[in-house]
Amino acid sequence: MYLMDYHHHTNHSFDSKASMEEVCENAIKKGIKEICFTEHFSVNPLAPTYGHIDFDKYFNEITQCQEKFHNQLIIKAGIELCEPHLLKEQYDEVLKPLNLDFILGSVHNIENQKLRKYLENKEGNKAYMGYFEEVYKLVCTADIDILAHIDLLKRYAITTYGIYNFHDFKELLEAILKKAIERNIGIEINISGLRGSLKQTLPSIDVIRFYKELGGEILTIGSDSHSPQSVGADLHEAAAMAKECGFNHIFKYENRKPIAVELW
Ligand SMILES: [Zn+2]
Ligand SMILES: [Zn+2]
Repeated sequence: MYLMDYHHHTNHSFDSKASMEEVCENAIKKGIKEICFTEHFSVNPLAPTYGHIDFDKYFNEITQCQEKFHNQLIIKAGIELCEPHLLKEQYDEVLKPLNLDFILGSVHNIENQKLRKYLENKEGNKAYMGYFEEVYKLVCTADIDILAHIDLLKRYAITTYGIYNFHDFKELLEAILKKAIERNIGIEINISGLRGSLKQTLPSIDVIRFYKELGGEILTIGSDSHSPQSVGADLHEAAAMAKECGFNHIFKYENRKPIAVELW
């Protein structure tokens, strides 16, 4: 069983205090074979994550952990970008010299507002529509490997409007997923929703199934954990869901190349 967690944060992200070493130790205890760290990064000074990461420190710590845990855990260097379709040139310039294995692309902000703020004073379906339109723009041009938590807005909308109805957004989701497939961009099963009040993955199983129906193949699984305790949480549930949707493989990345791995 080759267990992998392809979405994890440490104190190199603005919203995590986790020590990388501790995350690795816990991953090994849980039988995880490969982890990809995906720290938050933005080139936009208005984004909350701006200015936090020090890439030298990040890559040094990755190397230290790779040495310390070799034979026990494969460790990959990834990143999670906020709105990588905007400020594309700035992103290219910063990221080009880095030896990243993997890039996640996320919509965390719309018109420089955090999603929670963006939601205020908007009708539910309008808010979701605006959000998915932004995801569509992202997938059309961004230089990324995987679209992270495609329906993230539900995490913030759950307490006010609730979770969107898949059928209301099927057309827009189809456009997003087809564009992703065309551009060789995959999607993830982000398991973090199972740990909170959402009680479902991001995206929901309907979207994963739809992606498969449309011919999508590239899928990763990530806990989106921000603490050592939750590394690899619910990996088995996510794998079962992927299988239920018809997937036999998920993917790992090396130097930004997808490599298929049999599902556990
Ligand atoms: Zn985060
Ligand atoms: Zn994340």
